[in-house]
Amino acid sequence: MNEFELIARYFAYPAPSARVGVGDDCAVFDSRLGHEWAVSTDMLVEGRHFVAGADPESLGHKTLAVNLSDLAACGAKPRFALLALALPEVEEAWLAGFSRGFLGLAAAHDVDLIGGDTTRGPRNCCVTVLGEVPAGEALLRRGAKVGDEVWVSGCLGDAALGLAALQGRIELAAPARDQVLERLHRPTPRVALGLALRSVAHAAIDISDGFLADLRHLLVASGLSAEVLWEALPRSLAQRSCANEILARDCVLAGGDDYELCFTAPPSMHGDIAALSQRLGLPLSRVGLLRAGSAGEVAVLDREGRTIEVERFGFDHFAGK
Ligand code: ADP
Ligand code: MG
Repeated sequence: MNEFELIARYFAYPAPSARVGVGDDCAVFDSRLGHEWAVSTDMLVEGRHFVAGADPESLGHKTLAVNLSDLAACGAKPRFALLALALPEVEEAWLAGFSRGFLGLAAAHDVDLIGGDTTRGPRNCCVTVLGEVPAGEALLRRGAKVGDEVWVSGCLGDAALGLAALQGRIELAAPARDQVLERLHRPTPRVALGLALRSVAHAAIDISDGFLADLRHLLVASGLSAEVLWEALPRSLAQRSCANEILARDCVLAGGDDYELCFTAPPSMHGDIAALSQRLGLPLSRVGLLRAGSAGEVAVLDREGRTIEVERFGFDHFAGK
């Protein structure tokens, strides 16, 4: 199978939302009046973001999911994706699995794959996504205001706990182990939440590098600091029953790969947020408060209001280099 047969077989699907999709030099599509494009790229590299031999279907899903998560954080409606793939060789079983995972999630969100690139090389999956948002309404990191409360969707730290289990740093019993591995391998981008937050939140970010690290990005962009209550952070049963408390705490505060949304909203939004949580069937937890000044500072407090010492904030590819 050559390059073009490979593309035709696994990646050339109809793109009803575009005028021209896969198959020409460029994809061509319309802009809707009164809307802006939100665009983002994320790359998954073998040996860095996934291990050699990782299940291709989950990898296809995750490659798109992490990108849709960025659109969700901006409150953008996903429309199109481009996929640049480097592969060491043509393995049909791998390609079939990968495209099934990728295109399955794309279909679930009405996203058209409109182009990409395919080349031989160390395995690397890079996606660009385009989403639409009404002009001026994108949710940004820099919109947070003093007095806003900090909210988090879903549960924190499960993906990192799954990674710790895979690496043999913690033993987990069967149901918990399966649940956290599912969270690591097949994250759910919070797209519907992001869209709804446009009328609720002042600022948002998706949690990909670790809760504290990503909250700090939002705080720096907004020029504010935050107090976070450890007890309020949403933790799954797997997390709460984890035998190694120090590891569990690090997963919740600084573990990456959760792809939950962290957002800030004024206290007047409590009712709307509760209704939204109900409608989406997704827990939304109020975990902290924003304060003026000391941009980027986060204090994690225990039940008595004492500061908890935090060893690390999150993941950084070039830390210490
Ligand atoms: P060019 O040489 O003009 O850059 P290519 O031969 O790389 O074009 O690609 C041919 C067509 O297939 C283009 O429309 C490109 O966007 C698309 N394409 C290539 N690889 C992929 C992929 N992995 N997924 C989706 N579309 C792809
Ligand atoms: Mg090309």
